Amino acid sequence: MALQAATQKMVAEFDYPASDVNKGVKEFLREMDEGLGETGTTMSQIPTYVTAVPNGKEKGLYLAVDLGGTNFRVCSIMLKGDTTFSLVQSKVAIPKELMVAKTSQELFSFLAKQIELFLEKHHNDHFEATVRRRRTASASEGYKDQEYFQLGFTFSFPVQQVGINKGYLIRWTKGFDIKDTVGKDVCSLLQDEINALQLPVKVAALVNDTVGTLMARSYTSPNRTSTLLGAIFGTGTNGAYVEKLDQVKKLSIGESSKDYDQTTGDMIINTEWGSFDNHLSALPNTPYDDALDKESNNPGIQMFEKRISGMFLGEILRRALLVLANNTEAAFCSDVDSSKNDIRSTASIGPNSTLYKQWGLDTSFLSVVVGDTTPTLKIVRQALEKDLDIDAASYEDAVTVKALAYAVGRRAARLSAVAIGAIVLKSHRLETDDVIDVGVDGSLVEYYPNFEEMIREALREIPEIGPMGERKIQIGIAKDGSGVGAALIAWSAAQRY
Ligand code: ADP
Repeated sequence: MALQAATQKMVAEFDYPASDVNKGVKEFLREMDEGLGETGTTMSQIPTYVTAVPNGKEKGLYLAVDLGGTNFRVCSIMLKGDTTFSLVQSKVAIPKELMVAKTSQELFSFLAKQIELFLEKHHNDHFEATVRRRRTASASEGYKDQEYFQLGFTFSFPVQQVGINKGYLIRWTKGFDIKDTVGKDVCSLLQDEINALQLPVKVAALVNDTVGTLMARSYTSPNRTSTLLGAIFGTGTNGAYVEKLDQVKKLSIGESSKDYDQTTGDMIINTEWGSFDNHLSALPNTPYDDALDKESNNPGIQMFEKRISGMFLGEILRRALLVLANNTEAAFCSDVDSSKNDIRSTASIGPNSTLYKQWGLDTSFLSVVVGDTTPTLKIVRQALEKDLDIDAASYEDAVTVKALAYAVGRRAARLSAVAIGAIVLKSHRLETDDVIDVGVDGSLVEYYPNFEEMIREALREIPEIGPMGERKIQIGIAKDGSGVGAALIAWSAAQRY
């Protein structure tokens, strides 16, 4: 009984009622506007210089490369013009020494070399007809325009983007540290090394993975609906959406390029919403959130992301369970006899349990636990044994773990609805009869049970949306954002030449 009461109390700490969802939406709208007006705001609202989303009719062969954390991917994408595509890709681990090289050239020449190897292997006819010809002919002989591949460059590090294929590195993250790259345009660095190898490749676009998700979804969406928002719920969370150009006030200040298609009247904005409400004026804040943040390597930053994304939900749950385990009155996983259906014996937490290790619990654990519908919660108890070294957990222990995993995930989904709801409202698309399409990607939305339905439940609770509005919102998975999305951005950039 003590455990049941302690669990209920803790579950209630993760409540995020409709009134708070609405307060969140208002603050989100305010921060979106603020970010469109000036730089250096909580939510960055970065203009991407991409001014239209695809309609599924785009055609052609494009290249895409993706420099993420540990791997470099090169792919070519054939857009077939009928909402479908085919994709060939190769992946190579980035040598550790290049991540901390003395000069940018060492890293970028390696990347260019991978592009060369890819073309030689997968597009050999074109390679023979162009690169070989040029290398054997006089140096002055260049390529014809139509011989060039247009390339989309997905670069998942903080950049100050000032044009569709121009962005200065703000800082390296994820273990990279090459001093002389900071402040340089990463597209030029790659283009210089491509040129040094005399490859017929133009770095046409610098791509953020969230924008890629939006583009990929818009290309593949059913009935050629043009997509409003692309959102990622994976390791991190972020969204990119279609904004009216005249709302992007800060485009008229600073070094912003004017070289983009202004005729569509739109501009895709990369919100960087992970940092929404860093000052915690509208976000929920439990003791577990607070401790997670204080002991993280970036306290006070990415506060929205720290309540939503895969990197953090397991850690929130771990901290909550640890508090329960240390509460002797609650009798969680302790040797109190509370047998039920012969399931219970004496539970024990191993001394090396990941319950005691910061970041020890992966968010996939939440999906497994919440998805257990067996009457005895057999799967939860197996997961406790496997992932947390908790032996012989009782049915009651398992009920507690499931209830908390559900509460943490449900709060994350309802917070996600704040971002989606605010962007839907800002677009005014509810005032039309059109379907409002949203593309999503990431393991959390894909695998956490009913994540989308819980988002929808919260959307219905926003009075300006309601059940009628919620029904107009179509949410679908967008796969391969960094491949086909990057290709589509390269396509869109190429329309300018
Ligand atoms: P990324 O965002 O890095 O491109 P993913 O979309 O696969 O990659 O997200 C990885 C994150 O999702 C990790 O934080 C991981 O803990 C979490 N995750 C992995 N599998 C699941 C799952 N089945 N349910 C919920 N979260 C998951």
